[in-house]
Amino acid sequence: MKDQEKLLEKAFLALEHAYAPYSGFRVGACVKTRDGNYILGANIENAAYGSTNCAERSAIFAAYSLGYRREEIEGMAVVTKAEEITTPCGACRQVLSELLGQETPIILSNGKETMETNMGKLLPDAFGAKDLDK
Ligand SMILES: [Zn+2]
Repeated sequence: MKDQEKLLEKAFLALEHAYAPYSGFRVGACVKTRDGNYILGANIENAAYGSTNCAERSAIFAAYSLGYRREEIEGMAVVTKAEEITTPCGACRQVLSELLGQETPIILSNGKETMETNMGKLLPDAFGAKDLDK
């Protein structure tokens, strides 16, 4: 996708803002909107572990909080500094399958390798609004 390098750069900036004192596993994410905004998200942990929020959800919730909706989102990046590329967890896949388009590019990187995927590939046959007749 266009401006992929800038999207990754912003996601790595978000990673620097991660609050991960318990796991030490820092994750950054960035949503790029069609009107040119880059919206950052980082993982934010909590001593009550279940209250932790992943970087992907931080970024997409921030984008929605600013009024953006999935058709206005051009792409997203999720980055770590892990040995292997990290893919979104199950909770994030469920959320992103509703809040991102199925074909919207998701760029994953660990700073050494980069791969592109999308929600259609990460969570096929997802539960969604259609299942609630919405
Ligand atoms: Zn997650």
